Amino acid sequence: MNMDFDRKLAIPMEVKEMYPVSAKLADTVAQRAATVKSIIAGRCDKLLLVIGPCSADNEVSVLDYIARLRAVQDKVADSIFIVPRIYTNKPRTTGEGYKGMLHQPDPTGKTDLLKGIVAIRQLHMKALAETGFSCADEMLYPENHKYLDDLLCYVAVGARSVEDQQHRLTASGLEVAVGMKNPTGGDIDVMMNSITAAQHPHTFIYRGWQAHSHGNPHAHAVLRGYVDKHGKSHPNYHYEDLLHLSETYATHDLQNPAVVIDTNHANSGKQYLEQIRIAKEVMVNRRYNASIARLVKGFMIESYLEDGAQSVGGGCYGKSITDPCLGWEKTERLIYDLADLL
Ligand code: PEP
Ligand code: MN
Repeated sequence: MNMDFDRKLAIPMEVKEMYPVSAKLADTVAQRAATVKSIIAGRCDKLLLVIGPCSADNEVSVLDYIARLRAVQDKVADSIFIVPRIYTNKPRTTGEGYKGMLHQPDPTGKTDLLKGIVAIRQLHMKALAETGFSCADEMLYPENHKYLDDLLCYVAVGARSVEDQQHRLTASGLEVAVGMKNPTGGDIDVMMNSITAAQHPHTFIYRGWQAHSHGNPHAHAVLRGYVDKHGKSHPNYHYEDLLHLSETYATHDLQNPAVVIDTNHANSGKQYLEQIRIAKEVMVNRRYNASIARLVKGFMIESYLEDGAQSVGGGCYGKSITDPCLGWEKTERLIYDLADLL
């Protein structure tokens, strides 16, 4: 093979022994995961908000952000269930650029995957211990999921991964709700096939084992917009898109028809301020049509302390170094507005 094997890394069990979760916090994780599942299944009608920076690039600013979310969550607890995004692995369109805290615990420093594994586990653990929030992460590398599986309450399979067999089969073995995004090209059938695969049991190779998954009834759709063959972004959160998805679900034998609307990415064309309008527009459509109200369970919003984005090493505290995010004041306002629109 044209690669060097630099060093053998600690396996998830060893890392968990070094950084264990207390029984009390494990209980919080379990309860929150159950709440997310009950929202996806329609037993709880709170709005799910998976919200936070595109990438968790810095422990201090991410924890600062999540502590602020905590105060907001307590005010809207009757109507909104917040799951902070702590996305520690970043897929890159060409493979170039910052790959997330797993690869680079310091975004301006060298790649160090052992430090990265510890850094992402510690970040998720600190968020949990300091705020009571178990969070969401993207499962970019299925074999790495067990480094964090005891800490998460929501998992996303990204637009570039959703057609991949290992992602779909691993999603079928997750205990938490998993959002399967539409692929970057926008094909809804690809996403539905992926949800179907994730909802069913499979036997496959996982981390050197013949493993058997039980199927994940809470695997659901995430609409993130799409890019056409000319590279132009198009939204897929509009009324007709949601009706179409509702009708598509009706022709599939799937459990818990559900969608989370990603308000950024190709839905906003990365015009991050549009996230406010997009979320509100979907709320209006939810009110207008009962099947849309049943289908749309919540939003995935890219938000951080500062508006916009900067390049790696830009030095602005709490500003995204990947996709542009909504800043804190606008985020807080939006969450209260969404609670009012429910
Ligand atoms: C993200 O959520 O930051 C992301 C990379 O999304 P997508 O897979 O939709 O591009
Ligand atoms: Mn992003």
